[in-house]
Amino acid sequence: MANDAMDERMIELEARVSMFEDLVKVLQDQIVKLGVQPGGSYRTMAEHSRCPACGQRKIFFADHITDRDGGIGEKMSFGRTTWLSRPIAQFQIYACVACGFCEWYAPALSEAVDELCKKHKGFRVIDANDAESTKAPYR
Ligand SMILES: [Zn+2]
Repeated sequence: MANDAMDERMIELEARVSMFEDLVKVLQDQIVKLGVQPGGSYRTMAEHSRCPACGQRKIFFADHITDRDGGIGEKMSFGRTTWLSRPIAQFQIYACVACGFCEWYAPALSEAVDELCKKHKGFRVIDANDAESTKAPYR
């Protein structure tokens, strides 16, 4: 009698495990479709060519952005060099053609970040690995 009850319980548990395994497969497929990476961050349009907001795959890329059109605009960046006024860490944009969601990049930022922080009081690096850098600046 006890063995029959244990067998029934075992069968029930195996069925539940199988149901959860199927559910995990469905969720894994949905995660892949959404373009979400382990850890919760989404895959960028730059690397994935899929809009994380609407899922469309038609992406517009601009290697520079001007602050005004018509040939008189400056290329947008985090700053400009003292000599010749060239942009420092110029922006690039990937934009979803369907919904307009944008990702801004400054590919040269890592090379210029120290110079920019020295030059501008309002600029700073927030490094999550360094507790001191995550504190708000004094006002
Ligand atoms: Zn979109």
